[in-house]
Amino acid sequence: MKKFQLPKLEYEYNALEPYIDKSTMKIHHGKHHQTYIDKLNIALEKHPKLCKEEVDDLLIDLDNIPDDIKIAVKNNGGGHSNHSFFWKILSPKKQDIPKEIKKQIEKDFGSYEEFKKLFSDTAVTLFGSGWAWLVLDDKKLKIMTTFNQDSPISSGKIPLLTIDLWEHSYYLKYQNKRIDYIEAFFNIINWERVNELFLKNK
Ligand code: MN
Repeated sequence: MKKFQLPKLEYEYNALEPYIDKSTMKIHHGKHHQTYIDKLNIALEKHPKLCKEEVDDLLIDLDNIPDDIKIAVKNNGGGHSNHSFFWKILSPKKQDIPKEIKKQIEKDFGSYEEFKKLFSDTAVTLFGSGWAWLVLDDKKLKIMTTFNQDSPISSGKIPLLTIDLWEHSYYLKYQNKRIDYIEAFFNIINWERVNELFLKNK
């Protein structure tokens, strides 16, 4: 039976310093993400046929998931998918925003500054644990949040960018100052990849 596995990072645990510290990355990737995968694999033991799928394909239509593992797939499959995506849109190298996505941001939000403000405000005010996202919805860029490990894929959106707002993603370095973590996040966005996703799906 195929099992889901922890994806390798494209950078070292210390590569995102000073914005995200090495200890946080090590625990977040090696422990938190791994735990979602382990629990997903255990849940799928009851329905081995589903193991052939990609995790995102399990999340696209949760109504198709058998009732006895629906919640486990939503939470742990979502945890695996969201974290896999998050690692990929981070980069140790500060990047300029490619012109295609920049143009679309200006079209849909007015300016990059207005986008950044709206994204930051949305992320700061999310109550409890979850994620803030930049998604494509009906060919338009939108900012949204999901609670817990819910994925925008499950409501038909295409994720382009996200920030993990669970305390485990920032508490060691930033404690209660979520706003400082969000500000730091803007220095380590892999805009090249966000742009690739945009071009592929627009
Ligand atoms: Mn996390």
